[in-house]
Amino acid sequence: MASARVLLPRTDNVGRSGDERDLYGVIELLAGGVKAAHPGSSCQAGCSACCSLHKALFRIFRSEWDAIFDHVLETWPGDRIASFARRFWTETGPYLPFLERIQRRMDAGERVRPPRADLPIDCGFLEADRCSVYPVRAAICRGFGYFGLRRSADDLDGDAPPNGDLPGLEIYSCNQQREALAHREIGPRVQLPVFNTVYSRLESLCDGQEKRLIPLWIARSFPNTR
Ligand code: SF4
Ligand code: SF4
Repeated sequence: MASARVLLPRTDNVGRSGDERDLYGVIELLAGGVKAAHPGSSCQAGCSACCSLHKALFRIFRSEWDAIFDHVLETWPGDRIASFARRFWTETGPYLPFLERIQRRMDAGERVRPPRADLPIDCGFLEADRCSVYPVRAAICRGFGYFGLRRSADDLDGDAPPNGDLPGLEIYSCNQQREALAHREIGPRVQLPVFNTVYSRLESLCDGQEKRLIPLWIARSFPNTR
């Protein structure tokens, strides 16, 4: 598997060059190594449970949002953008005040996990169980399902032990994928790359940028014109 330790320091952009200088390109390479080693992986097109908003409370950086926004403006026809905005404001608009409060709590360092009953909607970009901005989705959307995650801020470097065996390392995914990756019979044991290392690089490439929940970026960039 490609080594994050070698590839990450060479990255110099987020979602722009599409090669190994692009952090997204490196995430894809690392995730591809996990996929190849785990053919029984549960992540596949049409599986979108992790895009429900009560779970996908992802704050993304301005550079990540700009890549999505530019992609939408450049590739979606005007009527598609208009219907996307209408659907977003109908479905997600009523929850924006709640999402603003969640963002403030997350900004203050809280880990917020509202029950589905309080936030019974999906990410605005989910259409027919598929991500409508898949080629430009954010780093956290790319990494979920394929990486290990260290909860200790003291231990962000280095690759994960096989299948997350060591204390302090979680498999960064839903339970279904966690079981698939941890299941020893479906493929060789694989060293999961550690998402903390990727995220540290993202933070350094996006140093000083605003970070917002995806629906709050959508609300700002696609105002309600009804
Ligand atoms: S992380 Fe879980 S819910 Fe998300 S695509 Fe993978 S298997 Fe599906
Ligand atoms: S941007 Fe795409 S991958 Fe990310 S949460 Fe939304 S629908 Fe899911």
